[in-house]
Amino acid sequence: MKQGIHPNYHDVTVVCACGNAFKTRSTYKSDVLHLEICSKCHPFFTGKQKLMDSAGRIERFQRKYAGFKKAEAAPAAAKTPTSGS
Ligand SMILES: [Zn+2]
Repeated sequence: MKQGIHPNYHDVTVVCACGNAFKTRSTYKSDVLHLEICSKCHPFFTGKQKLMDSAGRIERFQRKYAGFKKAEAAPAAAKTPTSGS
């Protein structure tokens, strides 16, 4: 190999947010590579649904519409009382 033109190809430990870790080789700058998702926890490989909800938007949606079903079940008259102008 020609000297001085190749990136440093070395052992890298890949650590996923799910706790899975494995070793590979890469030209990555650090010795440890952190991932948010890997083949151990990705829905494609697990077959399970995983909510990728980092911003808490789903939680906000569920809080907002928590009483929606209840209100629907109640009689329409009770839900929208006539103002009787
Ligand atoms: Zn993972």
